[in-house]
Amino acid sequence: MEKQNNKVPLIGFTPQELCSTMQEYGGTSFQAESLMRWIYRKREKDISTFSDIPKAILQSVEQSYTVGLYPPKESKRSDDGSVKYLFANGQNQVFEAVAMSSGNRHTLCLSTQSGCRMGCRFCRTGSIRFNGNLSAGDIINQVLSIPDSKRLNRIVLMGMGEPLDNLKVVNKTLEILTADWGCALGKSNITISTVGLLSELEAFLKSPGCNLAISLHSPFPDERAMLMPVERTNPILEIIKLLKHYPLKKPLRLTFEYVALGSLNLSKNHARAIATLLSGLSCHLNIIPWNRHNAATFQSPTSDELTNFMELLNDAGIPTNLRKSMGGDIDAACGQMAGNAPH
Ligand code: SF4
Repeated sequence: MEKQNNKVPLIGFTPQELCSTMQEYGGTSFQAESLMRWIYRKREKDISTFSDIPKAILQSVEQSYTVGLYPPKESKRSDDGSVKYLFANGQNQVFEAVAMSSGNRHTLCLSTQSGCRMGCRFCRTGSIRFNGNLSAGDIINQVLSIPDSKRLNRIVLMGMGEPLDNLKVVNKTLEILTADWGCALGKSNITISTVGLLSELEAFLKSPGCNLAISLHSPFPDERAMLMPVERTNPILEIIKLLKHYPLKKPLRLTFEYVALGSLNLSKNHARAIATLLSGLSCHLNIIPWNRHNAATFQSPTSDELTNFMELLNDAGIPTNLRKSMGGDIDAACGQMAGNAPH
């Protein structure tokens, strides 16, 4: 994150990172945790109001640090109530987050990179220039700086970028989101969506910090490689092997994401091959109707195609959900995010 008035932003810090500075000023590790709690849980922006920390320590910390929140540059509300926020971090990186509500579920879809290197053919983010990893501060700022931040109870890392391509930062972000001194969200209320980069996936699965959603999109390696070039170096068959070797422990959930492309990946053969591929895994399949955008020429599925495919999958014993698409009218739906100003 960029310095503000020559001060270092505290957003994105863990107490351990702050500890050495606090000790310089006579503060303790307990006080470092306390300070982080004011920022991440109580969402206070003014260091001088952190009432359980001695004033002298706060004054010293304030000389070098600031909370560091920065607001979205623009926002746009969809007819369905979802809101897309555009952020610019002052380091030439733009990225988006989308807030969606349904009943008691208040979800924020976050970006972990500005652009994406994976190049999935159906995704608008994959068609724009990659502009680097976001910092933990930039990712957490998306959570804390939106107007309805305090009511968020679900976070999905499914916005711009491939989370496992920025794993070190994403792990730190998960620590801040789930810690008692942090945002105190349950691990099962957070989901990482990934194409399945093999070595990073293995590292993640050894100590899973949240739910996992794997982008499947086709059960056939050649077709998956056409849709997702990353299949050539990270084959789905190897991904499945890893998932069987390191199963997620309840209550964490494994899902597979499947973008439904009209006349392409919704046949009986696809349903059968998916059932074979996923057998032996405890998982769900999420069907996401493709959202039209001008960077790709696929077709959105018809409702008959979707109904038929869902029936085939249910008959094959695969628990399947049809994901309600939100924000399509503001280019905020899955696969539509491109960091363009939502005017
Ligand atoms: S679908 Fe995800 S991984 Fe693929 S290009 Fe888009 S943002 Fe990147």
